Amino acid sequence: MKKIIFLFTLILLFASCNKDDHKIKINFLQVNDVYEIAPLEGGKVGGMARLETLHKELLKENPNTFLFMAGDFLNPSLIGTMTYKGEKIRGKQMVDVMNAMHFDLVAFGNHEFDLKYKDLQKRFNESNFQWLATNAQHKLKNGNVVPFYVKHHSTKTNIPRTYILNVKDADGTSVKIGFFAPCINSNPKDYVDYGDFYEDSKKAYRNLENKTDFVVGLSHLKQKQDEMIAKMLPKVPLIMGGHEHTARLVPVGNCHIAKADANARTAYVHRLEYDTQTKKLKITSTLVPIDDKLAFDDKVDGIVKRWTAVLDDKIKNFIDNPTEVVFVANTPLDGRDTPIRSTQTNLGKMIAKAMSAAYDDKVDGVFVNGGSVRIDDQLQGDITAIDVFRILPYGGSVLKVDMTGRLLEKVLKYGKLTAGKGSYLQLYNIDYDKDNKVWKVQGKPINRNKTYTVATSDYLLKGLDIPFLRPENKNVIKIYAPNENETAFDVRNALIKLMKKEQHN
Ligand SMILES: [Zn+2]
Repeated sequence: MKKIIFLFTLILLFASCNKDDHKIKINFLQVNDVYEIAPLEGGKVGGMARLETLHKELLKENPNTFLFMAGDFLNPSLIGTMTYKGEKIRGKQMVDVMNAMHFDLVAFGNHEFDLKYKDLQKRFNESNFQWLATNAQHKLKNGNVVPFYVKHHSTKTNIPRTYILNVKDADGTSVKIGFFAPCINSNPKDYVDYGDFYEDSKKAYRNLENKTDFVVGLSHLKQKQDEMIAKMLPKVPLIMGGHEHTARLVPVGNCHIAKADANARTAYVHRLEYDTQTKKLKITSTLVPIDDKLAFDDKVDGIVKRWTAVLDDKIKNFIDNPTEVVFVANTPLDGRDTPIRSTQTNLGKMIAKAMSAAYDDKVDGVFVNGGSVRIDDQLQGDITAIDVFRILPYGGSVLKVDMTGRLLEKVLKYGKLTAGKGSYLQLYNIDYDKDNKVWKVQGKPINRNKTYTVATSDYLLKGLDIPFLRPENKNVIKIYAPNENETAFDVRNALIKLMKKEQHN
């Protein structure tokens, strides 16, 4: 009997030794900058339920498939601005969907910190996925800097600066993959200490390199910053990044920086093959369109539909047919944060034009704050009424204001000076003549003593963005506020009306 057991053990030992082929295959599925849980462009592209189908297909191909989010997902979104069960939604819908999809690792983007700390902590506590923050830490009111944490029941778990993923395949080959997650400090918030993402990434890498087989970045930085990190840490083979919203795969030395399109219009699939003996790693990256060729995953679709029902319900208070296509954008309309707050974009001009049209163009010009556009995305293809609400979630009325040329010029100068901020102005029939250094209304230099009739938002006239632009200013001569039955009553209706008109011309 002893002999038999011995023999059996020997066979087992032999078999298991022989089985580890020192080669392991791993799939990474990457998305970044996903604000919408439902599909876009009239339902044609994107959608978390489609992404989940791809996720499941990859899991079938290889159980060692891991799902990553490279930052920017809790804000902005139209659903997030709405109230559900007495509480502002603010990203809760996204956490709900991401929980159901079992995300494996999630990095912060700048937009996570758009939330107030109190709300962000709620989202942490609701999440069942692993967060990673290499540089972003919680700055307390007393100035102390501590890690953010997730609280489940009464257990607090700090969000780490580094993460190690242990992967093992069927024949027992195992690999340890280290992760670091730098986050950009754009639009910084008081409750966040952004550290130094270069130094903190370097530290994280040093910490990981001896404990792991290789180290990968899950970042949310500008392209150039990712490239700096790739140069600084030349052994990092892959940085899964975000922030730019347009897909790319950029080689820097031995590294590839991969970013998918925003809102899961595409996702990156990275197929890794690692040889634990030769230490050779091969990565094949494929950009996969998330479109109607992918079915909706039932479970995730159910959750998405529950949340979009909340949205449809609220929108029906404003508009009868929320899913009606009101415009087809052959050229993408640019509502990304950086351009809309620093240059005149086609979308900004369209909004301003719609505000003029709301008064039958009986205004001299229009100015509106770029910060009223909250979509941080480019819109293309079919644009529905819901999309217009996504562009301008806060709505508000378009006012007709008589003001002196003196004040108008001061306002325009202020807008130009604050490029990069929400008070940067999108204009219509007003422009700055660079050569002559003068502001022009309808092509003519502003006359400071003349009275101009302009259309602008009720928000701007509160003086929150431009401190001196208030009804009390003596250079404000007359304010006309529209009544409920007028198009100008809600800027979104004004935009929908203009889009439909332009579509039919
Ligand atoms: Zn971002």
